Amino acid sequence: MKIAVAKETRAGEGRVAMVPELVGKLTALGYEVAVQAGAGEHALYSDQDYVDAGAVVSDDPLAGADLIVSVNPLESAVVRGLPQGTSVMSFLPTTFMPELVADLRDCGVTSYAMELVPRISRAQSMDALSSQALVSGYRCAIVAAGMLRRFFPLNMTAAGTVPPAEVVVLGAGVAGLQAIATSKRLGAVVKAYDVRAAAAEEIRSLGAQSIDLELETLEGSGGYAREMTEDRARRQMEMLAPYIAAADALITTAAVPGRTAPLLVTAAMVEQMKPGSVVVDLAAETGGNVEGSVPGEVVKIGHAQVWGGSNVPAQLPQPASKLYAQNIVNLVTLMTRSTDGVAAFDPDFEDEIVAGSCVTRGGQILHEPTRNLVEGGAA
Ligand code: NAD
Repeated sequence: MKIAVAKETRAGEGRVAMVPELVGKLTALGYEVAVQAGAGEHALYSDQDYVDAGAVVSDDPLAGADLIVSVNPLESAVVRGLPQGTSVMSFLPTTFMPELVADLRDCGVTSYAMELVPRISRAQSMDALSSQALVSGYRCAIVAAGMLRRFFPLNMTAAGTVPPAEVVVLGAGVAGLQAIATSKRLGAVVKAYDVRAAAAEEIRSLGAQSIDLELETLEGSGGYAREMTEDRARRQMEMLAPYIAAADALITTAAVPGRTAPLLVTAAMVEQMKPGSVVVDLAAETGGNVEGSVPGEVVKIGHAQVWGGSNVPAQLPQPASKLYAQNIVNLVTLMTRSTDGVAAFDPDFEDEIVAGSCVTRGGQILHEPTRNLVEGGAA
């Protein structure tokens, strides 16, 4: 059976869904691996690297593929050309792409969304949300350190003492914790806040100070946060304002699954920051945690330079691709039945990881919230 690796078409996408060093894992399972020419270019992998690893490189590897893997979903035009029964595996933000989901359904394509892989311990090695959030969190801290025109660490020298920078991180999920850890490693004094009470212990375990606002915790299902009420949001802003005014760098990483990012910081709060301060908003693309941030741009608000994240994991394309490709290999392995070295891509739909990540199959939308969105029905 054949697995095809599609070249990404999204502007600014540097990642690729499979890296040469992991091609052997798929061929060892018995698959033929076909890679679209130039697919690894931005992640610094040449076509020859894939050929050396045992893949076939061509301009049209999708023809005849049983499974097509990519980082971003395939374009509708490509989906419409796929034979019925083809499987596709990629990130698939169904909330924002109802028309593409309808195409996948109507073309009889079986689609798996990496963001729907259930966050259970058995699926940790397939959790691409976490692997890419780790890359984003690191990148945010490095961007903040790079933009700030002062040291992150304390320096005690014969010429005098330079105090460390103060970094405030809002949202302490996978990305936020990585931003905290990286800022700490660079020597900054770090304070962090998350609406989930459980995050406080994780913040402290990294040597940072957990900001306690004495507001009710917003723990939702599956360890995620719940949305704030307007009143809760206003009180949170009022209480966070002095921490933000005192920070040299503010990094925001807050998200609520399936929703636009919560607004945590108003432009008026940023205006209270000191000259030379920096703001890094990882959530800029999904609505923004910081009012006025623009994805992919640096804007000035008051005295602060505000950096809006845009496809941040793609800014470290090689490690992001390698981690994503490992997630794909692990998910494909789970979905493979191998007999006498002959691989069959044969997912077991009784398995909660397979069932949970499948969006469309056999002309139907299996993921209920997406079905309701695309076909109407209960909200
Ligand atoms: P996420 O990207 O959805 O959100 C990032 C963070 O923003 C979360 O910590 C959330 O609590 C926080 N947040 C939301 N609204 C906020 C607000 N108004 N103010 C401040 N912070 C706010 O989350 P994530 O990084 O994907 O992970 C969240 C949870 O999932 C964590 O508990 C994590 O441990 C858990 N998790 C579990 C697994 C697993 O079991 N396999 C894997 C990864 C993550």
